[in-house]
Amino acid sequence: MARLTFHGHACFELQTDTGSVLLFDPFLDDNPVADIRTDDIEAVDFILCTHGHYDHFPDGLKIARRTGATMIGTFELMAFAESQGVEKVHKMNVGGGYTFPFGYVKLTPALHSGTVAGDDEGAYTTLAHGFWLDLKPGPGAEGRKRVYHAGDTALLMDMELLRGRVDVALLPIGDNFTMGPEDAARAVEFIQPRVVIPMHYDTWPPIAQDASAFARRVGTQAEVVILKPGEAYDF
Ligand SMILES: [Zn+2]
Repeated sequence: MARLTFHGHACFELQTDTGSVLLFDPFLDDNPVADIRTDDIEAVDFILCTHGHYDHFPDGLKIARRTGATMIGTFELMAFAESQGVEKVHKMNVGGGYTFPFGYVKLTPALHSGTVAGDDEGAYTTLAHGFWLDLKPGPGAEGRKRVYHAGDTALLMDMELLRGRVDVALLPIGDNFTMGPEDAARAVEFIQPRVVIPMHYDTWPPIAQDASAFARRVGTQAEVVILKPGEAYDF
């Protein structure tokens, strides 16, 4: 059984069938709705960051330095992580994939702006993207487990390329900074995942959303799983 635990905003912890622990977009210490802080993370193998904004990336540096986890992200963002004392990074770029011990990871396109939080001289760039994972099956596992973390993004026609290739989709619904509920429901139409979990909403007033209204919009196209920070979904 794989387990996705939501820690608020765009942060998910994924325990895979093969025993790896992955952390997406940690934003814990300054996040008003997070259920844990960076110091509460004891064991993590990989930290995946979709871009360099402060609500997705700098907490990853703290956790990686303390735990020795490997950070995964774009070339420039990972070069910055190295410059900040992170020992293990894996540099990738959009459209590229790589097979890690837990499975295959591909960086998908996203449309969003970017600065690297902590890069005071502006020497590093950050191209926002999503992650598509095809997890390695565990003992006795049935079916594939493909997870799509969209990152921060607008609705993109490119999402249609994922149709039929996603089991669990993590999609932003907050509006204002990313796509809102209407566009996220269209993304579900494009991707046709089995399950969709909304994210990147209710952290601050500008991105307050009614997740159950989003679920009604999606209707029967996919199962919508609404997680509160600290709650988990097993699949
Ligand atoms: Zn964000």
